[in-house]
Amino acid sequence: MSSASPAPQPMPLDVLCVGHASYDLIFSVPHHPNPDEKIFADGFLACGGGPAANAAVTCARLGFQAAFGGYLGNDLYGEKHWQELLDEGVCTRFIARGESPTPISVVLVKPEGRRSLVNYKGETQYTPAESIDFSTAAPRVMLFDGHEPQLSVPLALKAQAEGIDTVLDAGSLHEGTQALMHRVDYLVASEKFARQYLGRQAEDEALSRLAERAPVVVITLGERGLIWKRGGERGALPAFPVTAVDTTGAGDAFHGAFAAAVAAGMPWRDVLRYAGAAGALCCTKMGARAGLPLQEDVRALLERYPDTPIDERG
Ligand code: ADP
Repeated sequence: MSSASPAPQPMPLDVLCVGHASYDLIFSVPHHPNPDEKIFADGFLACGGGPAANAAVTCARLGFQAAFGGYLGNDLYGEKHWQELLDEGVCTRFIARGESPTPISVVLVKPEGRRSLVNYKGETQYTPAESIDFSTAAPRVMLFDGHEPQLSVPLALKAQAEGIDTVLDAGSLHEGTQALMHRVDYLVASEKFARQYLGRQAEDEALSRLAERAPVVVITLGERGLIWKRGGERGALPAFPVTAVDTTGAGDAFHGAFAAAVAAGMPWRDVLRYAGAAGALCCTKMGARAGLPLQEDVRALLERYPDTPIDERG
């Protein structure tokens, strides 16, 4: 008789989102506090954050099987974020816990929508590859935010070997995004990343240059929508017209929905429209996590604007 415990079952997933998880304490304040001034906030929101964790929550809210892979500390904020992920239906099997603090941010939101942010992550470093066993993860798509390169690079190589689609949310140019940008199928870059990569503001040129590194490139341009290049084709998609109150998290919603749409095997035009609708809806509510949309909201926005034209630039 063997005393070995049974091997864990494979975990079928639509999207495995790997990267950063934090905890955000968001205060809405009448003005920026002066030195030595005490002010009172007129609103407060506390919730989990981080691009990959938000993307995983987006996938789950859209009705997809999602897991988050990354780090949370054994502290109050790690515990709270873990519970929030469970409550959202996100699989937590691939989260490493440890004594280093959960990264936290205090965000001051001012009336005109401007934000000041203080981030604390103590000694928390990149999570080492061996600290999470991904062998039972069976995703259709892997999404990386670049903030955990030691976990993500081996996963990207495994995905390549096994024919699993990969997406990089390239928010800014740094060690992590540089290590992954040429190893993914879909490079979804922010305007900031495109500018940093090219060394100047020239989106169409950045698109061409980035397309030398990945087979499909999208550059998201906030309220101006996006441009894309896929093999020999390129085009643009305007943003859905919404009344934006807070654009924080639009990118996270966009990337989560994009990966989910790829996992669902949607045609290319629908992938872009689905992600664009999710990004737009996120702008209609305060806070990133609170604004991540539900399946029915995305469906309703897509139905309301069925003919959003794609400007093909050939
Ligand atoms: P990031 O936060 O990563 O910089 P963006 O700000 O470019 O991402 O937003 C990602 C996508 O979300 C955009 O391409 C667009 O489709 C949608 N989006 C962002 N801001 C708006 C807005 N003000 N109105 C409508 N859609 C928006």
